[in-house]
Amino acid sequence: MDISDSHIPIPQDTNIPKSLKIAFPENFTVSNLVRWASNTLQQVNGIDFPRLDAEIILSHLLSCKRIDLYLHPDKPVDETIAIRYKDAIQKRTRRVPLQYIKNCANFMSLDFYVDERVLIPRPETELLVEEVIKLSQTMSKEHEIVIADIGVGSGNIAVTLAKNIDNARILAIDISSDALAVANINARRYEVQDKITFLCGDTFKPLEGHEFELKIDFIVSNPPYISSGEFDTLQNEVRDYEPYVALVCGQDGLQMFKRIIASATTWLKPGGYVIFEVGNGQAQKVAQLFENTGYFKKANFIEDYQHIQRIVIAKKEETFGQNCH
Ligand code: GLN
Repeated sequence: MDISDSHIPIPQDTNIPKSLKIAFPENFTVSNLVRWASNTLQQVNGIDFPRLDAEIILSHLLSCKRIDLYLHPDKPVDETIAIRYKDAIQKRTRRVPLQYIKNCANFMSLDFYVDERVLIPRPETELLVEEVIKLSQTMSKEHEIVIADIGVGSGNIAVTLAKNIDNARILAIDISSDALAVANINARRYEVQDKITFLCGDTFKPLEGHEFELKIDFIVSNPPYISSGEFDTLQNEVRDYEPYVALVCGQDGLQMFKRIIASATTWLKPGGYVIFEVGNGQAQKVAQLFENTGYFKKANFIEDYQHIQRIVIAKKEETFGQNCH
């Protein structure tokens, strides 16, 4: 979730001034509606691509491609759709993220149901999923690969791992039962619910008593890593609509990493991995946290598209307990 890096000044008031309100067209054609919407969105501070947003929302409501809007500009639009469009554009003027308006976010080429109960999946999280898939391919196919996903959110990580790793068994944990309800929708959408066990609770707590100690191959997490101080600097879309608990953790943003690392060795197999997504500037600090335990090999990093060290990979020593002091 690359949200800490995009600082956009916060406008005082994102509502459109009444004097600039643009009349909703009487004749509902594709081009009339898109023109109205893009003119309307243009007047809102902080909306960078008004025309694009206008087109994305209309093509979503019409279940067509954006190009179709250009191919059939005079096509009449049903009144019910036009009214839904008006409502959706008004939401966008309040800076509601497009993904919540569409109830859809793409991740690893799959469409996930999302709403305000969950964080919107970010492209850099795909790097984490790809790394787990790659590492799982070096493991024996004979036994289950047990993966604990801490902070499952929309289920983007859990579902794509379940789809891509045949012998995966996913323990999908979230403190928010609301988030788990969304993850469940997505697991069913992609028919992987049998490979995923949803558990509600704080970090590893729900695993207690289930005999997974030293049995987990991968602990993966894209935890809340924004510091409380940074929160106010986030884009309105993120700050006002995405779940606070999925974004922010403590004064330094490192609290969840510390807590997960502190418990990880109890659950992880010798030779198992912890793979985190981290915020800008956190990778070395998180690597140090692993090193301090004495139970992990030197951490590795994967850079995102902006050359920020975004994924931290730490492998637990195979000889855990024998040569670690
Ligand atoms: N696993 C989800 C994601 O990567 C949710 C993460 C979170 O809620 N912090 O988007």
